Amino acid sequence: MNGEGVHGGARDPRVLEALRGVFGIEDYRGPQERAIDAVLAGRDVLLTMPTGGGKSLVYQLPAVVAEGLTLVVSPLIALMKDQVDALRARGIRATFVNSSISAAERARRLEAAVAGDLDLLYVTPERFRQPDFAGRLRELPVRRLAVDEAHCISQWGHDFRPDFSRLGEYRRRLGGVPTIALTATATPAVAEDIVLRLDLEDPLVLRTGIERENLFMAVTEVTSEEEKVDVLVERLRAIDGPGIVYGALIKDLERIHGELRRRGVETLVYHGKLSAEERRGMQERFMGSSELVVLATNAFGMGIDKADIRFVIHTQMPRTLEAWTQEVGRAGRDGAPAWCELLYFPEDIAIQDTFVRWANPTLEYVVMVYETLAGWGERVQLKDEADLRAELLVKERRDNRVGIALRWLEVLGVTSGSFENHDLGVRRPLDPDELPVFLATGEKLQDDLRALLSMVEFAKNEARPRRELLAEHFGLEDQVGRGCDNTEDAAAWRATHLTERAQAPPAPAASVPLAADPDAPFARGDWVEIDGRHLGQVVKVEGEGRRTRLVVESAGDFRRRTVDPRRRQVRKI
Ligand code: ADP
Ligand code: MG
Repeated sequence: MNGEGVHGGARDPRVLEALRGVFGIEDYRGPQERAIDAVLAGRDVLLTMPTGGGKSLVYQLPAVVAEGLTLVVSPLIALMKDQVDALRARGIRATFVNSSISAAERARRLEAAVAGDLDLLYVTPERFRQPDFAGRLRELPVRRLAVDEAHCISQWGHDFRPDFSRLGEYRRRLGGVPTIALTATATPAVAEDIVLRLDLEDPLVLRTGIERENLFMAVTEVTSEEEKVDVLVERLRAIDGPGIVYGALIKDLERIHGELRRRGVETLVYHGKLSAEERRGMQERFMGSSELVVLATNAFGMGIDKADIRFVIHTQMPRTLEAWTQEVGRAGRDGAPAWCELLYFPEDIAIQDTFVRWANPTLEYVVMVYETLAGWGERVQLKDEADLRAELLVKERRDNRVGIALRWLEVLGVTSGSFENHDLGVRRPLDPDELPVFLATGEKLQDDLRALLSMVEFAKNEARPRRELLAEHFGLEDQVGRGCDNTEDAAAWRATHLTERAQAPPAPAASVPLAADPDAPFARGDWVEIDGRHLGQVVKVEGEGRRTRLVVESAGDFRRRTVDPRRRQVRKI
């Protein structure tokens, strides 16, 4: 079908044929048809639709049936490959270029795009700053631009990224091609900002919110960390099926993991500090399981398309209502009842307030980072980010102001290269005026604090239906479903709609020595507990029989240790 122009819209028989034949989808859902009509007519579109709603089809189907290349900007390298693999499995001519492949391979793929052999090309926004890509931009037969996770463009978005803020400029370089901006969550202000920054022309704006009636929303304030775990245990017992428990700090997750284990509830712990392989392994286990519970930071879930997640429980106040909405939206995609609850301890709010500040360097801070780098001169290539953080007296790992300042300097072209590659260098002086105004005014920090406040107000509201509050926040009218703790009895809802988990006998307390079983066969990927205290994952099994040694990566400090299972008490989890 490639190469033929499509003159009809979404109902054109050839388009419907591709919908069914190529994508295996029977019919459009929600706003898809209107959006695809507009895209095929060459109109700019801004679509907000919940995660899992089917946003990708809105640019993928036109890419397949209409002429020319669709350039897709997406922030996540990790998801790009999966997306492209899925498209290729359907026979669609798609590929990606990013830093995970060699320069030669990137060149080869760009060649194919220039030659007109591709319908979809996925890139990260950072790619536009790379000469190998930027230099060929004009040669690419780009007919449409799709911007996924478009809320990253807006300083008011909950996940602002400097590179996204330059997409308007890149779009101009592409000749202002028709553009499709997609996001799961955008307040009216963010939507307006996306339109402005991408310079969309009379776009069709379609916005839908959480439409799944099957989600029950609840918020529970607890008076201590212990009570938080108590409530969590109660919920995990009351709700059968796979679920996600979100926390903000790895150490909290590990503590909760230990507490749950003592009470006979086994969970996986997932966070960004695990190796890519470990993360992938866990995701696969979770995807294939009908009962596993994952304790995770918000690194878990993006790209997890599992239909039968029965609950999403937050053990920390999320930083924005957008983040919370997106995360609970991972539950109940199969349409069956699912439970979404926020458990919070009022002190958590102070933690989040600090995190917000750590995500917002001031203008002076960015200048200070610049001056430190400039002062180092050539020596900068012998240093790393830890040195810079030490120099600036940054003590907290979660304080990310240095990282964000570095990113701004890079985006503006003041620096090039990176600490990781030992090729960081200051290319030109920084003029503080070129930094975005919101750094100087502190406007973004104020916005972020306001966003946190909206989240807190939502949590504390006990009077109004939660969907009504969400509809108000997101400026939507079409919220359906009522189920929430402010309109009905939460325990009764659980009892009626959810199945109880089969009870497991409580595991022995960690202080009770666990029987060692040296003959238990261990395999790579096994989670083990050593001497009843240390948790880790087997990354290698060496030798056999009596000479078996396990190389275990500790979950606490990620150090690898060689363990003799006959000498230490190693218990498989
Ligand atoms: P989003 O990007 O909005 O989170 P995706 O585009 O990844 O969602 O789509 C989620 C899932 O929904 C995919 O498996 C996709 O094939 C499926 N899907 C999309 N549109 C439809 C439809 N009209 N009918 C049935 N399934 C659909
Ligand atoms: Mg998507």
